[in-house]
Amino acid sequence: MSMTTPIATESFTCAVSPDLASLSMTAANGACVTLTAETLRLFCKCAHCIRARFDERFPERFPGIAIVEVADLGYGLNICFSDGHNRGIYPKSYLASLTDH
Ligand SMILES: [Zn+2]
Repeated sequence: MSMTTPIATESFTCAVSPDLASLSMTAANGACVTLTAETLRLFCKCAHCIRARFDERFPERFPGIAIVEVADLGYGLNICFSDGHNRGIYPKSYLASLTDH
């Protein structure tokens, strides 16, 4: 994915899609990126998930996962998923980097 306009990570407006399957972030300059719930869940970097990856018991897929709640902490988002996982904090610069996946 290539973007012609660098996204201003400090000024995202975030919105969860009506089907809860993706998160859209719109920057003040109008640039918009969308991340699926599965991508976000896969790239969670909380201590729990980092440990699970280290132990090779982290799932490769999260079929049907949904975003149930998003809390904007200013510097990042705390996202709660339909599998009950709610520890992940996603700094906005990290979210921007995930759009390359
Ligand atoms: Zn996690």
